[in-house]
Amino acid sequence: MPVETDKLNAFPVFMRVDERTVVIVGGGEEALAKARLVGQCSARIRILAEAPEAALAAWVQHNDAELVRAPYDAARLDGAALVFAATGEEYADTRVIADARARGIPANAVDRPEICDFYTPAIVNRAPVAVAIGTEGAGPVLAQMIRAKIDQLLSPTLGPLARLAASYRDLVEQVVPKGSARRRFWSEFFEGAPAQAMELGHISESREAAERLLGGRETTRGHVALIGAGPGAEDLLTLRAQRLLMQADVILFDALVPEAVVSMGRRDAERIAVGKRKGCHSKSQAEINTLLVELAGDGKRVVRLKSGDPLVFGRAGEEMQALRDADIAYEVVPGVTAAFAAAADFELPLTLRGVTSSMVFTTGHDLKGSTLPDWGKLAISGATVAIYMGRTVAADVAARLIDAGLSSETAVAVVENASRAERRLFHGTLADLPSLEAMDELTGPVMTIIGDAVAGANFDHSTPLARRRPQPVAIRQSQGAQA
Ligand code: SAH
Repeated sequence: MPVETDKLNAFPVFMRVDERTVVIVGGGEEALAKARLVGQCSARIRILAEAPEAALAAWVQHNDAELVRAPYDAARLDGAALVFAATGEEYADTRVIADARARGIPANAVDRPEICDFYTPAIVNRAPVAVAIGTEGAGPVLAQMIRAKIDQLLSPTLGPLARLAASYRDLVEQVVPKGSARRRFWSEFFEGAPAQAMELGHISESREAAERLLGGRETTRGHVALIGAGPGAEDLLTLRAQRLLMQADVILFDALVPEAVVSMGRRDAERIAVGKRKGCHSKSQAEINTLLVELAGDGKRVVRLKSGDPLVFGRAGEEMQALRDADIAYEVVPGVTAAFAAAADFELPLTLRGVTSSMVFTTGHDLKGSTLPDWGKLAISGATVAIYMGRTVAADVAARLIDAGLSSETAVAVVENASRAERRLFHGTLADLPSLEAMDELTGPVMTIIGDAVAGANFDHSTPLARRRPQPVAIRQSQGAQA
């Protein structure tokens, strides 16, 4: 029995298995699971199974492993680096373990920690970098949960970056003095320009940045990530967005970005709220542009967080222009735009075979402008129209579409606070749409979707718009959220 202390009973090591053989005994699921695990390494894999299941046989073929279809013979363990007993039968496993031990080979039996010489970790693989998580056999599910978290934290390009680092190791030892200079070099390598270029998949740029760094020519260069924070639910953020947030020195965020997403940044990261809610611009666009350029110019890693997708009604065009003009490196990380979140809440197919094959993302605010004077026509041609910032101009939108020739009976879906727990859904027709303007109780962001495809939505959880039209103010105030 392991002793109960705060000391580990198993000492973690990374064992070399390249050019060596790992033997797995068993022909079923357990053996396949171990084969997949060991298959992450370059070891030769030999599977001993008299009657392997089809999935295992297929795996062997695809992975260039060796399959010995014969009754178990202990001599087949000879010379192995490791042995796995994965027969699924206690007696057979115990025998395999004894045979391995007799040959001085460390052995593991699936689901029988008491007879194991070693345990297998859950692995986060960014070869050559690996994170191995062990619980001494106590909690495989826990190990997998931890694995998933760490997997999110580490960039998929960490492997190539580490390989690049390895190729520079000798040179760095020759030219960069040991101690703090060398430490600074490597931390700049793994977090600065070489890492950023690799993150974007630009391997040769990454190498060039490493060369500059080595020649002492690389000053810390700032970088801006324009990131879509999604529509509100924090788990609709992309993994890439989350990782960049955790690396950021400064986070600039809009009013609609949920607090939970902003707080995914490092605790010591500077956070700057830059507006903008309708009618209260806390910073002008020009000020934001200048701020981005200044912060990145100081060498900071800046995250510019916008709600939904950054390229949809997010003024990203102006910010990217300012960054290009100032020659500052930036990247764009897409997010789930509000129209998609609203459609998901409504189970509304934005395209519908035989009905709708195009989409228009537009804003109620350009109605009187001239950017797209004819979008009404697009709606008649059968597009699904998603309207951003459209609540206070709902009557204009409806009038315009009806004028353009759309039937006043066309279906309309409205979602306030799409994807958030406090969301509210409404449905009706184009003729009902003007009632939105009077619904002052809708204090969250509102998305309106219009078109024939809306008829395919699920109206079980939505309230009819029409009924609200004649409501006197007093009743409206006394109603609850789902009235
Ligand atoms: N870049 C954002 C849009 C910013 S414009 C995106 O891609 O979603 C702001 C408008 O987006 C709001 O007026 C509203 O119409 C819409 N919006 C944003 N979040 C929303 C949400 N959770 N639910 C409904 N509409 C939303």
